[in-house]
Amino acid sequence: MTDARSNILDVRGLRIAIPGRDGERVAVSNVDFEVARGEVLGLVGESGSGKSLSMLAVMGLLPRNMQVTGSVRFDGQELLGLPARQMRSIRGGRIAMVFQDPMTALNPVMTVGAQIAEAIRLHNPSLSRRALRARAVGLLELVSIPMPEQRFDQYPHEFSGGMRQRVVIAIAVANDPELLIADEPTTALDVTIQAQIVEIFDRLRREKGLAIVLITHDLGLVAGLADRITILYSGRVAERGAIEAVFRRPRHPYTAGLLAAVPSIDSTSERLHAIDGTPPSLAARPSGCQFHPRCAFALPVCAERDPDFQWFGQSMAACHRAAEALPMAGGDDGR
Ligand code: SF4
Repeated sequence: MTDARSNILDVRGLRIAIPGRDGERVAVSNVDFEVARGEVLGLVGESGSGKSLSMLAVMGLLPRNMQVTGSVRFDGQELLGLPARQMRSIRGGRIAMVFQDPMTALNPVMTVGAQIAEAIRLHNPSLSRRALRARAVGLLELVSIPMPEQRFDQYPHEFSGGMRQRVVIAIAVANDPELLIADEPTTALDVTIQAQIVEIFDRLRREKGLAIVLITHDLGLVAGLADRITILYSGRVAERGAIEAVFRRPRHPYTAGLLAAVPSIDSTSERLHAIDGTPPSLAARPSGCQFHPRCAFALPVCAERDPDFQWFGQSMAACHRAAEALPMAGGDDGR
């Protein structure tokens, strides 16, 4: 783990609750994660694990009826409770976001160049049209769009899916953000285009010191790009730490199950591993460890008591049996 002072984003004890007539429903509980400048954090989990919700809370974009508590510090400044106007100036400026579907993020009746220029102008109202165009063309170049001068004047429908996602990334980084939150940025793309997007993220982090939070269910994507990983299950952190440590020796059976489900070219098995069962719904969260109804290693205590976190050098896991050498699938040593 890095020094807290070097982290651009520090999330501690994040809790998101949705009040209802029959009491509140807790969607995210006691979630901690951090990302340093120039670093990539993979925020991983199945649908409903709370990963997107957590990052919407960071961006201040959750509906008003959701109650968010804990601490979200960006470059040392607490964001929870910040007035909307201040939050708006940070969002889109110092923090930017890329969503899954580039078509819904782009305006079909505006040229891509005009859309990038508009994003720049919002934070730099005094720039001339010529300067805006020059910066927008530079951004198209940065995200590897060929013939950027000509492409500036084209519309989104004239771009392929991969090129549209690159335009969305260009808009997101138009104002030199310090933190980029990318929510399933490659899910709708084929594998060769995914590789190009990964290459662009890697370049942005290396050349611009951009910190990136990659929200995904794709561990292969995380393996290729991330420095550290946080795995969420049912709104709680199951395991987190340095990517090598977690991948080499997963301590939580859920992490091991996710790793075993990643296709490998070296695998001798013809079938991919699948984790039996489904995550619990918000309305019916189990007692104790959230994973116990699906866990092959559950003990009676697992249904009774929430496991505490245990540290293992570069990683930590919330599992009563994290210190044991369980015969789990996943990880280099097959445990
Ligand atoms: Fe499985 Fe128990 Fe660990 Fe939960 S605490 S992951 S149920 S062994």
